Amino acid sequence: MSSDNNTDTADMQDVDDFRQHILDEYERLNLDSKFKFNCGNEMKCFTKCCGDINIFLTPYDIIRLKNRLGMASQDFIEKYTLNPFTKTQRLPSALLKLDEDKRCPFVTDEGCSVYEDRPWACRMYPIGLASPSDESMESGAEEEFYFMMAEDHCLGVKECDRELTIREWIEDQGIAPYNEMGEYFKSVSMHKLLHEIELTPQKMEMYYMVCYNIDAFKKFVFESRFTDVYEIEQETLDIIKEDDVELFKFGVDYLLFGLYNEPTIKVKSEVLKAKRKAMRLDD
Ligand code: SF4
Ligand code: SF4
Repeated sequence: MSSDNNTDTADMQDVDDFRQHILDEYERLNLDSKFKFNCGNEMKCFTKCCGDINIFLTPYDIIRLKNRLGMASQDFIEKYTLNPFTKTQRLPSALLKLDEDKRCPFVTDEGCSVYEDRPWACRMYPIGLASPSDESMESGAEEEFYFMMAEDHCLGVKECDRELTIREWIEDQGIAPYNEMGEYFKSVSMHKLLHEIELTPQKMEMYYMVCYNIDAFKKFVFESRFTDVYEIEQETLDIIKEDDVELFKFGVDYLLFGLYNEPTIKVKSEVLKAKRKAMRLDD
């Protein structure tokens, strides 16, 4: 994680409190739960939902947005994100930085200027997804659940007869690729060993780079000794050089290996031999 990035802990107590409030108080919905909602530029509340918000960006959100804006991921995260830390989180995250009026930097009078690439959270709204504590999810005691955000300013949930299921909403909003990428992300960010491993600053940097600064990861793969150390097929290298989504999936394998010691990526045998030899010489 870049040390000169904005790190914001001040307001994050609110995020932790809100999360706990949802877990304690909100009705737990599933994919077949029905809700009423309608939204459009004819609504009196149009774009009110794009201010005074906490939007945590996923790795896939950042890839979509930075490519849409034609920006390098480093420039995107510097300009548009904060690195908050809540007391319950072990790994770094990226929060969308609001403007001085506490509005999303992408909102205009005409609506969302990045609509086709808007983040997962914006697509899901007014439905939220809550994750119980990592420990309880690991033990299987609790599962993720959907909930309805009951925000006063949103007339779309109040003045509406259109009824649909959460499953239909996910399809309607093109959320499937976001969820697919979310599963890759969760395999690292919610790994069953997350609370057992030692997270050194180097490991945190590695995690942050793969998840949020994909162009830096690409540079790391192709411009360091990475390909001298790891066994990677040329075909894979050709694909990940051109495709950020495939690069992120590869990065997840690298993190599973680097953080959790899973056999998802192989060190070259000559590198291992040289290492063993060096260790014997040290003895
Ligand atoms: S990204 Fe678009 S939909 Fe999401 S908060 Fe910003 S303007 Fe609104
Ligand atoms: S109906 Fe709700 S989601 Fe739609 S513009 Fe109004 S506040 Fe935003």
